[in-house]
Amino acid sequence: AKGSGRGRFRFFSSDLLKAAEDRKALEEDLHDALAQGQFALHYQPIVKAQSNQVIGVEALLRWNHPEHGQVSPARFIPIAEESNLIRTIGEWVLRKACADAAGWEVPLRVAVNVSPVQFADEAFPALVTSALAQSGLDPARLELEITEGVFLEEGGQTDARFNALKGLGVRLALDDFGTGYSSLGYLKSAPFDKIKIDQSFVRGATQPGNRNRAIITAIVALAQALDMETTAEGVESFDQFDLMKALCVSHVQGFIYSQPLDNDTFVAGLSGGDWTIEPSG
Ligand code: C2E
Ligand code: CA
Ligand code: CA
Ligand code: CA
Repeated sequence: AKGSGRGRFRFFSSDLLKAAEDRKALEEDLHDALAQGQFALHYQPIVKAQSNQVIGVEALLRWNHPEHGQVSPARFIPIAEESNLIRTIGEWVLRKACADAAGWEVPLRVAVNVSPVQFADEAFPALVTSALAQSGLDPARLELEITEGVFLEEGGQTDARFNALKGLGVRLALDDFGTGYSSLGYLKSAPFDKIKIDQSFVRGATQPGNRNRAIITAIVALAQALDMETTAEGVESFDQFDLMKALCVSHVQGFIYSQPLDNDTFVAGLSGGDWTIEPSG
């Protein structure tokens, strides 16, 4: 028993070591990724479920690693956040998304993910100002997606930061709602225009008696009372789509409408005037 215990320990420790080494290697590769042109932004349509009208897109970062191929942002964003690389990467994302959107034939909104690390930076509103000025993008077309993580930052600067950003005329969305350290207090004080309902709620909601359905109903009612829009994320099936529509979620985003698309493919789909797409399971 003693022997097997030791073996087990060794197994775990070498596993952890391997994970730490992989992480270190990725962090080093991340340092050069921007200069080497390994990043791209893909755009996923956000659609008004009642009319199938595309109202905007979310910009999602893609890293094409020279050896590993596509590395998931769920994997490299946390590494970028811990190493402060998120500042330069996040700046590139913001400037690129504004520049791309300014060139689209249809004036859709573009939603950009903002890390709590970026948000905590005093200079962040100035960066947004600069990205808007440089691209010429109408501020009303830029939506910043912020997670509940921003409220954990010390210093009580959060209100001032929100007000500075709202003063620029950009929109604010509360991302991944309900998955973090949700407190209704955030909704009371922070000037959000939209709540994004996390796909973890959407996933279970179609099963009979599932509590996610009640939670989504409550989020929608809350958002409506506070004059905010809602987007259901990660909608994949017709069952989920029909339910989100029935629950009066304002917008739907997910594979039911479209995968995230590279800018060229996305632009090719824009054909002047309104852009509508059909759900397809
Ligand atoms: P998120 O902000 O919640 O983005 C939505 C994620 O759901 C994206 O994953 C998207 O590709 C995926 N998705 C969309 N529709 C469906 C669907 O129908 N089913 C399923 N299963 N998934 C769907 P992605 O692109 O891998 O990004 C993962 C996370 O990485 C994002 O989650 C966001 O937190 C972060 N991220 C991505 N791009 C950026 C960025 O530019 N900056 C920052 N700070 N974070 C980013
Ligand atoms: Ca997001
Ligand atoms: Ca999200
Ligand atoms: Ca999410």
